[in-house]
Amino acid sequence: MSAAKSPSVADVVIVGAGFAGMYMLHRLRGLGLSARVFEAGGGVGGTWYWNRYPGARCDVESMQYSYSFSPELQQNWQWSELFASQPEILRYANHVADRFDLRRDIQFDTRVTEARFDRATHRWTIRTNHGDHVSARYCVMATGCLSTARVPDFPGIERFSGKVYHTGHWPHDGVDFTGRRVGVIGTGSSAIQAIPVIAQQASHVTVFQRTPNFSIPSRNGPMSDAYANSWKSDYPALREQARHMRTGILNSPNDISALEVSDGERQRIYEERWAAGGTNFMAAFNDLILSQQANDTAADFVRDKIRATVHDQEVAELLAPKNHPIGTKRICVDTDYYSTYNRDNVTLVDVRAAPISEITPTGVRVGGTEYQFDAIVFATGFDAMTGALLNIDIEADGKTLREKWEEGPRTYLGLMTAGFPNIFMITGPGSPSVLSNMMVSIEQHVDWIADCVAHLRLRGLNCIEATQSAEDTWVAHGNEVAHRTLYPLANSWYMGVNIPGKPQVFMPYIGGVGSYRQICDDVASEGYRGFELSAQTSALAAE
Ligand code: FAD
Ligand code: NAP
Repeated sequence: MSAAKSPSVADVVIVGAGFAGMYMLHRLRGLGLSARVFEAGGGVGGTWYWNRYPGARCDVESMQYSYSFSPELQQNWQWSELFASQPEILRYANHVADRFDLRRDIQFDTRVTEARFDRATHRWTIRTNHGDHVSARYCVMATGCLSTARVPDFPGIERFSGKVYHTGHWPHDGVDFTGRRVGVIGTGSSAIQAIPVIAQQASHVTVFQRTPNFSIPSRNGPMSDAYANSWKSDYPALREQARHMRTGILNSPNDISALEVSDGERQRIYEERWAAGGTNFMAAFNDLILSQQANDTAADFVRDKIRATVHDQEVAELLAPKNHPIGTKRICVDTDYYSTYNRDNVTLVDVRAAPISEITPTGVRVGGTEYQFDAIVFATGFDAMTGALLNIDIEADGKTLREKWEEGPRTYLGLMTAGFPNIFMITGPGSPSVLSNMMVSIEQHVDWIADCVAHLRLRGLNCIEATQSAEDTWVAHGNEVAHRTLYPLANSWYMGVNIPGKPQVFMPYIGGVGSYRQICDDVASEGYRGFELSAQTSALAAE
C-alpha cells in the first residue's frame, strides 16, 4: 500500500525518524510549527529499527540511554535489564511515538533523495523516491551517524548461494542459525555482540578478523527496582549532571593520571572497573586517551585479561589488539565475547596478513583456503557520520554538499555548514555525537535547533546561515583538540578510514559533551555568534 502524499508546504521537513527525528518533531509541534518527517524505514527507532542482529543492545546503561525531555515518560517506562536489548529499545521508541502521537506526521518507507535551497524564496524543496515534493522554510537532517550500512566490495559477492546478512539491515522476522555453518566478517561492536549469540545456535561459526578490538564485559543483568529507583528518585538532577560530563554519561571519572599511582594501585583500579564492567573502564584515569604511556597500562591490562580468558594462546594473541591505543577505536562492551573462542564450534581466521580474496558460490576464500558456509554475516560497519547526508543531493546556490565536503566534512558546531542556510544537522560531524551518550547529544541538538527557530520567529527573521569564518575557526579548533589526543593514531571509522577513498579527517568533536554544550549555549546567548540571521523580504512576500 503506498503512503499518502505529504502536503506540499511545511514549516520544517525532518529527514529520519530515529530518536533524533522523533524528538525534533515533538519539539517543533510544541512551537506551533508544521513539520513533515520522511523515514526510509517502515517504522520509528532508526538504529534500533534496522540493527536487529542477535545480541544487539545498548552499551550505555538504559537509565541513561533514554529520553529525558518528559518527566512522566522517564518515570513510567520500566527497563528490564541494565543494558536494554534491541527489541526492548525498539518497543520504547514505538511507545514514545504512540505516547506523543508522532506517527501522523511521519511518512515511512520513503527516502529523501534531494534537498535544494532557493535563494529567492529562502525555502528548501525536498524530494523523495516516491515523488513527494515539499517546500519548507527549514530542513533538519536527523539521518543518523551510523545509518548507512556498508558491505565491502569483495569480488564474487553476488555469486554466494547461501544467505547473506548485514548486521545493520537484519531481517525483521529473525534468523534461525540452528545447524548452519556461519561466517562472520568483522570484529567491531556489532560482531562482538552477535558472535557469542550466533555461536550458541550455529553448528559452526568462523570469524574473519582484520583488526582485533578491545572489549570490556558489560556485566549486564536484570534491572533491579532499587537501581531503577535510585535514578528515578532524583532523575532531573542526575540527568543534569550527565549533560555536563565529558561523554554525556554519568560515570565515575578518576581525575588522576595512570602514571601517578603505584603499579599495585593501578592494577587494583583496573580490576575494580573490569569487575564493574562497561565503558566506565576508560574513565579509570584522566590521561588514557592523552598519553601513550598511560594508555599502554590500560591496554596491557585488557590484553592480559584476554590471555587469561582464551585457552588457546595463539587465538588469544590474535584477539589481543596491538596496533591501536585502547579507546581510540570505539571501545566494545560484550557478554562472553572472548570466552566464546573457547567453544569447539568457533574458529578465528586472521585476515590482516592475508585478506579475504573473494566470496565464492559456497563460502569465503582467503588465499589458498576456502571456508564453506550456509550463511555469511557482514558485520562490516557503516559509512559513518557523512554517509547518510551525502547520499542526499543537498544543494544551495549551485553548490552541492558533496562538492563542499570533498576533502572532509566542515561544519560550525556540527549543526550547520556555511553556504547552506536554514538546514540543520542533528549530531553532525564536528559535534560530540558518536563519542557520547547519543541520547544526551540528540536532545541537546534538538533543543538548540528548536530554540533557534523560536528565536528567529520571535524576531520576524527567517534565515540563518553559519559564517565561513566561524566554520573555519570551529574546524581548526576541532582538529587541534583531536590531535591533542591519541584518537588520530587509529585506523577508525571516526577518521573515515573504513571507506575506500573517504577523506581521512577526525569527524566527531572530542572537546567533551559538557564543554561543547556550554559553547553552544554561549553562541545562542550572544545572539547566535558566528551565524548570520536575517529577514529576507522576498521570502516573506512569497509566503
Ligand atoms: P538513527 O537512529 O540512525 O536514525 C536515522 C534514521 O534516518 C534512520 O531510520 C534512517 O532510515 C533515516 N534516514 C537516513 N537517511 C534517510 C533519507 N535519505 N531519507 C529518509 N530517511 C533517512 N549510541 C549510544 O549512545 N549508545 C549505544 O549504546 C548505542 N548503541 C548502538 C548500537 C548499534 C548497533 C548502532 C548501529 C549504533 C548505536 N549507537 C549507540 C548509536 C545510535 O546510532 C544512536 O544512539 C541513536 O540511535 C541515533 O539516533 P538518530 O535518530 O540520530 O539516528
Ligand atoms: P565497525 O566498528 O566499523 O566494525 C566493522 C568491522 O568489519 C571491523 O572489524 C572491520 O575491520 C571489519 N571489516 C570491514 N571491512 C572489512 C574487510 N574488507 N575485510 C575484513 N574485515 C573488514 O562496525 P560495527 O561493529 O557495526 O560498529 C559501528 C559502530 O556502531 C560502533 O563503533 C558503535 O559506535 C556502534 N555500535 C554500538 C554497539 C553497542 O555496543 N551498543 C553495537 C554495535 C554498534 P577493521 O577494523 O580492520 O576495519
